Amino acid sequence: MLDWSQVDTVLLDMDGTLLDLSFDNYFWSTYVISAFARQNNLSLSTARAQLVPKFESIKGTLNWYCLDYWSERLDLDIAALKAEIQHQVAFRPSAVRFLQFLSEQPVEVYLATNAHPKTLEIKLLNANFHQYFNALVTSHELGAPKEQQEFWRALQQSLNFDPARTLFIDDSQVILEAAETFGIAHLFGIAQPDSQQPARNMLPYHALTSFDEIIPR
Ligand SMILES: [Mg+2]
Repeated sequence: MLDWSQVDTVLLDMDGTLLDLSFDNYFWSTYVISAFARQNNLSLSTARAQLVPKFESIKGTLNWYCLDYWSERLDLDIAALKAEIQHQVAFRPSAVRFLQFLSEQPVEVYLATNAHPKTLEIKLLNANFHQYFNALVTSHELGAPKEQQEFWRALQQSLNFDPARTLFIDDSQVILEAAETFGIAHLFGIAQPDSQQPARNMLPYHALTSFDEIIPR
């Protein structure tokens, strides 16, 4: 399915790819909404009706991923709220095995995440994956989210990778499309980014059910 002799750089997404997206989905769809309801004396359904359109309106922008933006906009300490449930951060099945496999290959491995640096820090404190990467890159450092070509141009300038010899794995279809537009040759999605939600396909991309599908025996 993947010819590893054609790959010398691996770019990996974090949430929904290495880590179970159920943490983030629970955090934004339940935990933040109940904290906002409590703080503003609202019912849960009123809080949800107020927040969901706010979330939807900036999806895919850098601010959507920015804890400081949401802390200010909602008047809640979002990083502190995340830290309260940090014990729920978990690897996806076979993610650690895949990272170990990569560490034995002649490839450079980079994390490429839209997560805010404070989110990355909380994840790293609860899922130890730092040692498997040549570097951890957040879109906040580069000034654009992975959805935008600006991110890919800045990433390539920083890492100097060859798109034709690069593998990128991400659970977002829109982001895979952006990577393909930039010229990344080897692309895979994730069938079940959130362990609490059903699997889906990501056509025309192949969604991995398990990383074992691309670990040669
Ligand atoms: Mg993701």
